[in-house]
Amino acid sequence: MHFFRYHNGHLYCEDVDLARVAEKFGTPLYVYSAGTILDHYTRLDAALAPLDHLICYAVKANSNRAILNLLADAGAGFDIVSGGELYRVVAAGGDPARCTFAGVGKSREEIEYALEQRVYSFNVESEAELDYIDRLAGTKNLRAPIALRANPDVDPRTHDYVSTGSRENKFGIALGRLPAVYERASKMRNVEIVGVQMHIGSQITEAKPFASAIKKVAPIVRELKLKYGINFFSIGGGLGIVYESSFESGTKAWWDESVGRDRRARRGKSLSIREYVDAILPALRDLNLRILLEPGRLLVGNAGVLLTRVLHIKQTVEKKFAIVDAGMNDLIRPALYHSYHEIVPVNQPIASTSMSKSKSKSSMEKIDIVGPVCESGDFFALDREMPEVHEHHLLAIMSAGAYGFVMASNYNSRPLPAEALVHGDRFTLIRERQTWEDLVRGEVEPEW
Ligand SMILES: *Cc1c(COP(=O)(O)O)cnc(C)c1O
Repeated sequence: MHFFRYHNGHLYCEDVDLARVAEKFGTPLYVYSAGTILDHYTRLDAALAPLDHLICYAVKANSNRAILNLLADAGAGFDIVSGGELYRVVAAGGDPARCTFAGVGKSREEIEYALEQRVYSFNVESEAELDYIDRLAGTKNLRAPIALRANPDVDPRTHDYVSTGSRENKFGIALGRLPAVYERASKMRNVEIVGVQMHIGSQITEAKPFASAIKKVAPIVRELKLKYGINFFSIGGGLGIVYESSFESGTKAWWDESVGRDRRARRGKSLSIREYVDAILPALRDLNLRILLEPGRLLVGNAGVLLTRVLHIKQTVEKKFAIVDAGMNDLIRPALYHSYHEIVPVNQPIASTSMSKSKSKSSMEKIDIVGPVCESGDFFALDREMPEVHEHHLLAIMSAGAYGFVMASNYNSRPLPAEALVHGDRFTLIRERQTWEDLVRGEVEPEW
């Protein structure tokens, strides 16, 4: 679900024509829909109503302050994986007492900062880390609230790079080991056991792995509740979204006409909030514990697009390329995970609306959409069937709201793109485009 729609051949985000936003702020440009993010949050929150629950938005998916502020105001807590993310949450008006601190390698500086800020829980991933946190809390005369991360050893059936809940991954503590580590923790002077945590992976498109993991961990959770009086069970994030044919049918008649039919058949599998909650609710209800969720992608993924302009069309003997002004440094997902992003023109070609179906078919072509970076991995789509693309055309790379800007880099000395937020009929810049001066800021030439 998202609020990107065509009106009279123009792609809108909520009530704003995306061409206007690109005109004002330039490209490449990330644009997010506040209405979509809030809609996702509200629907998940409502579905979880039968449980005492807290949604801790996984900041790493999209950490722009304006987005964090939006979610903080809606009542969300935050799942953070670094001191920097905690700093952002605080700067955005979020409450550290609703923050869980995850990650396999927390530094001394990060742990001390999180202790000072009084986070809700440190989610601990190893015995060595537990010792470290105990020691650091001791030097500050504080007790660190901790939850151990359980590794339930289930296969989340997703991309290897974002699978975290199986035995071979670096994450969490094996279930067999878990009771003994809790026992050790209970004897530590400077930690307080407050919960249990797990997170099995990302972009998971079926309910089953979630349900299996909960089923495996629930008996231990019950035991820990009796023994140590824990307050919460965090079941992590990882809910997948639809990347392929993400437009609702009928909302985009022209596009459906031209490519939707084939695409819809291959439509990416989606896991609805309802299906997910129905699958996990029974086992969780019985526990009588506060349930934490840590969704990232689900809340923001479909809520953002990356706008990019076609610089040149290049025709070779084998292929046709559209070289666009965004590159893998702006959005690395296709290069890193071979992931699919739907790419649509912001202004639909005028001719095809009046043409007969067969004719509009013939204006379709296969094309590679590639960036300007010096890597063959710098592509957004290969052999993609698209309505004819021309120089200066504005394209929207859909579903770029999660793991988009946050993974952007300055590779090839390209300034980071700008970000804008739309809410209803208003739009505003929420991060300025970097300048060339920004690129060399902080760099120092040796004096010798
Ligand atoms: C990345 C991460 C999440 C969020 O994952 P999504 O797939 O974006 O929902 C949640 N919890 C932890 C511990 C994570 O590392």
